[in-house]
Amino acid sequence: MSVNDDQTWAAKAACASEPPDALFVRGAAQREARTRCFRCEVRMQCLADALESGAVFGVWGGLTERERRALMRQYPHIEDWSEWLRSDDPAAVDIREPGAPRIITRAKRTEVPVR
Ligand code: SF4
Repeated sequence: MSVNDDQTWAAKAACASEPPDALFVRGAAQREARTRCFRCEVRMQCLADALESGAVFGVWGGLTERERRALMRQYPHIEDWSEWLRSDDPAAVDIREPGAPRIITRAKRTEVPVR
């Protein structure tokens, strides 16, 4: 069963009581939204769901849309993001840590175009 099939984790979302547009923000508000994600107990499920569904806009699982795009370009072969997020890949380990991951920095280092 993929994370997309089982959405029961959503009931534990730290943003569950927020207005729906709270995650579709820019600039400083985006940093604020990310801070809430890093305290959220279902952050990895949320991020896997966003990556697997190709969510284009908003902050999901502590990653901005730009970071998720960079990640998907860096790892175009990944089919099971839930599994990859649990892996020992240095980027996955970095993402699991609380705080802003270095996805954009990694993407620039590996010369993956960041849009
Ligand atoms: S990780 Fe962020 S966007 Fe995802 S459920 Fe938690 S608070 Fe909401």
